[in-house]
Amino acid sequence: MAKKGKAPAPEPAPAQAADPDAPPPPEPVAPLSVVYCAVCTYPPEYCEFGASLTRCKEWLKEEHPDLFDKYYSEEALQTKVGTLSLEAQTKLEKDMAKKEVKAEAKAEAALKKKMASQIIIKRIERTKRKHITSVFGLEAFGIDLKKAAKQFASKFATGASVSKNPQGLEEIVVSGDVSDEILEMIENEVGVLKGIPADNVELVEEKKKKSAE
Ligand SMILES: [Zn+2]
Repeated sequence: MAKKGKAPAPEPAPAQAADPDAPPPPEPVAPLSVVYCAVCTYPPEYCEFGASLTRCKEWLKEEHPDLFDKYYSEEALQTKVGTLSLEAQTKLEKDMAKKEVKAEAKAEAALKKKMASQIIIKRIERTKRKHITSVFGLEAFGIDLKKAAKQFASKFATGASVSKNPQGLEEIVVSGDVSDEILEMIENEVGVLKGIPADNVELVEEKKKKSAE
């Protein structure tokens, strides 16, 4: 009789295979996994709703590093943050990447165009004594033609304007033969004439067919 009363006693010992007839008791896993935060008293997954998360995390890291990793590892946080807007994030990243690629391609194309662009300074003979100078291609280097024309006009105290050449493209036409001076200004990057490689500048001369030289 005394033996029978012993079984329900709150002792964990019987779990050990002392009694081969008894069915194996369930492993006491569940009770072990219940952890309450010593700081805020919530289960650790709810610490973030308390007012002491920083201290909670410190405690958890110290006492239950496995749980700490589970809730606060880089991976866990990323998963959590990314869940709602993962699709949006991916799309955003893709869009940004696309834009970057586009911008790079554009910049490269612009640079190529720039490097291939020629500036032609042409000395044009109008009459035996009268010349004009045309400057073509400055806009490929991002130079405002009107500003450049203004600069030439004031520098040489003469007329200078933006006009269309026979091909319908804009160029600057300056009164007088100032081609050497303009070339020099470009080389010295005077005023608005900045960023033009000297190699891209060509000086040409257009004489009247029957020059009375
Ligand atoms: Zn806590």
